[in-house]
Amino acid sequence: MRKAYIAGNWKMNMTATEGREYAKALLAAVKEKGADVKMMVAPPFVTIPAVLEVLKDSPIIVAAQNMADHKSGAYTGEVSPLMLKDLGVNTVILGHSERRQYYGETNEIINGKILLALECGMDVVYCVGETLEEREAGKLEEVLASQIEVGLKGVDASAMAHITIAYEPVWAIGTGKTASAEDADSAHLFIRETVERLYSKDIAENLIIQYGGSVKAGNVKALMAKENIDGALVGGASLSVEQFLPILTFNK
Ligand code: PEP
Repeated sequence: MRKAYIAGNWKMNMTATEGREYAKALLAAVKEKGADVKMMVAPPFVTIPAVLEVLKDSPIIVAAQNMADHKSGAYTGEVSPLMLKDLGVNTVILGHSERRQYYGETNEIINGKILLALECGMDVVYCVGETLEEREAGKLEEVLASQIEVGLKGVDASAMAHITIAYEPVWAIGTGKTASAEDADSAHLFIRETVERLYSKDIAENLIIQYGGSVKAGNVKALMAKENIDGALVGGASLSVEQFLPILTFNK
């Protein structure tokens, strides 16, 4: 039985002051309503310490949105996984489509980051997904297969318990367009089958696959009702407690 895993990616939003207030409000709301899912928020790097002050001993995981592909050295502007670990951050989102699109991250670069994160004892949410052009050209499966094969190259079966995959069709991110629950479920099934081919049935069955792309209170139930959709990676709607709480409590 896979436990639902709902995550909020704040992207480049929320100062430390705003993040601290948000975290207090979210924690209070979750305590009052109760939530029966694994929960995570991913603030910007500089906002993480303020959010951690509030959420440190809570059930809400505080993650990073990215990290460097080296542990230390002359990499101006980068943040090392060791720095994150030292703060108490044990989860990182890698391969987000905005990192691929705007910062040139390839499957190979992301693979290096995934291996490093695992070596440093971190859990990874690995984002995959096709562009509209790729979908329309019938390349959905080809793109997903290579993102998974290359992105997870060298990841041992024993480390797969630390990997969550987020399927995020690029055309649905921040656009208000959502993949239909059926389309999302069939992409998730393909991802699960690919992981089974590369690893084992057991690992594939235990793999948490989140859907991301304009998830909101109004569509989360239909998505989560699908057999292969185990959670959500939420961008825009995670930025207000009012919108995020009903997503976290979709099953209450
Ligand atoms: C995301 O940031 O991963 C995302 C899916 O964003 P949104 O929910 O705004 O589409």
